[in-house]
Amino acid sequence: MTAKIIDGKKLAEKKKTALKKQVFKMEKKPCLAVVLVGDNPASQIYVRHKMKAAEEVGIKVCLCEKQEKITQKELISFVETLNQNSEINGIIVQLPLPKHIHSYAVLEAIRPDKDVDGLGSYNLGKLFTGHKELVPCTPLACMDLIKQVRSDLDGLHAVVIGRSCLVGKPLTQLLLEENCTVTQAHSHTKNLPAICREADILIVAVGRENLVSADFVKPGAIVIDVGINRTADGHICGDVDFSSASEVAGYITPVPGGVGPMTVYMLLQNVVKVSV
Ligand code: NAD
Repeated sequence: MTAKIIDGKKLAEKKKTALKKQVFKMEKKPCLAVVLVGDNPASQIYVRHKMKAAEEVGIKVCLCEKQEKITQKELISFVETLNQNSEINGIIVQLPLPKHIHSYAVLEAIRPDKDVDGLGSYNLGKLFTGHKELVPCTPLACMDLIKQVRSDLDGLHAVVIGRSCLVGKPLTQLLLEENCTVTQAHSHTKNLPAICREADILIVAVGRENLVSADFVKPGAIVIDVGINRTADGHICGDVDFSSASEVAGYITPVPGGVGPMTVYMLLQNVVKVSV
């Protein structure tokens, strides 16, 4: 079997065109504040992608760069000034933050109605109690990609590898809402390949190159690869060994060009959502 590719790049482009039309009609254009601390090269690339995509659809971006040595207190008080600024609709703080800053404390400082990454406890709490408002972007992206190839997920077995608040946990909640039976696997899970082979939908969000190979995949399964890794020769790859897994899976997302562009799109969608 050779899997069909779920093309996240193409899908994101299509959705951005529709969003651009919506933004065009808005009298007051949405404005996103992006807080970038330090000079982590990967973070700089992610921020550039987000800014470019935002500008393409007509969302204004205010890039707020802070030095690595900023204290947690200073960063939180800066976030509070953004909270109070009526020109700013949405705020994101690019992760990871320097080691001396607790990201939890900073994310908590973002006003819930401006928390377009959906990572503060108000929005995560709303999600987990079934009253979602702003949902984290990568889990939203994964769900949209799955829905491209299977609209009714009722009763399917989904295995999510990874249990972060950024990806794994909120994604499990979204899959439960679709009546999937969900297994959450993580670094202490035993017999991972056998568990994964039970999955109708396998989502991998770990950050380890080639963690998942063909022997983890049930024939015909939907495989969503969230991981972003840099290979020894400088290329970007996911957590799934694409060439072997695509011989067994029914559908698979590539890296790059799968979850990444759709995650950026979901951020834009959240910004528009808080601006109308
Ligand atoms: P994280 O480090 O917070 O979490 C990783 C998870 O993987 C943990 O829950 C851990 O228990 C689990 N894990 C670690 N080793 C494992 C193993 N050997 N077997 C099974 N589980 C294992 O990472 P994160 O923030 O959730 O991100 C995960 C990956 O997704 C990273 O590569 C990150 O770069 C990528 N990511 C991509 C996007 C995107 O837009 N494409 C967005 C967010 C994160």
